Amino acid sequence: MPGIKLSKARCRALVISCSDFRFISAQRQIRLDLGLEHAYDLLARPGGVFALVRPSTRTARQSMLDEIDMLRSLHHFREILLMNHVTCGAYRGLARGKAEVRLHREDLLRAKAMLQSRYPRLAITAYLSTIVDDSVRVVSVTDEEE
Ligand SMILES: [Zn+2]
Repeated sequence: MPGIKLSKARCRALVISCSDFRFISAQRQIRLDLGLEHAYDLLARPGGVFALVRPSTRTARQSMLDEIDMLRSLHHFREILLMNHVTCGAYRGLARGKAEVRLHREDLLRAKAMLQSRYPRLAITAYLSTIVDDSVRVVSVTDEEE
């Protein structure tokens, strides 16, 4: 059986997203639409940026930062994509509905600011996956909107 070819592309991005199986295909599609196929590292953690902005322990945040540092030094990506989603189990009990969307926006922007000060030269973008009529819609999150 022939194997899948090892990517020879240059790693362009690091994607930090939630592990949730329900959103994987939709979020991957956005990465492909952005031209990142075979060219990104994936750091999938329950809650996406949750452990960066709401760590249960100091170690939780630090281990995530250590992983980001390691991948950066190995693969020299130029951008980071942050991808959270609504109805996330890691955020259960914190907020619902519009308040939940607001909370994810705040967390994504806080994580973005934190990583931007750590990596001033990287381009950092944030996305929130929402649910519209049983389908996943991935929207870009910036400081300007809302
Ligand atoms: Zn999640």
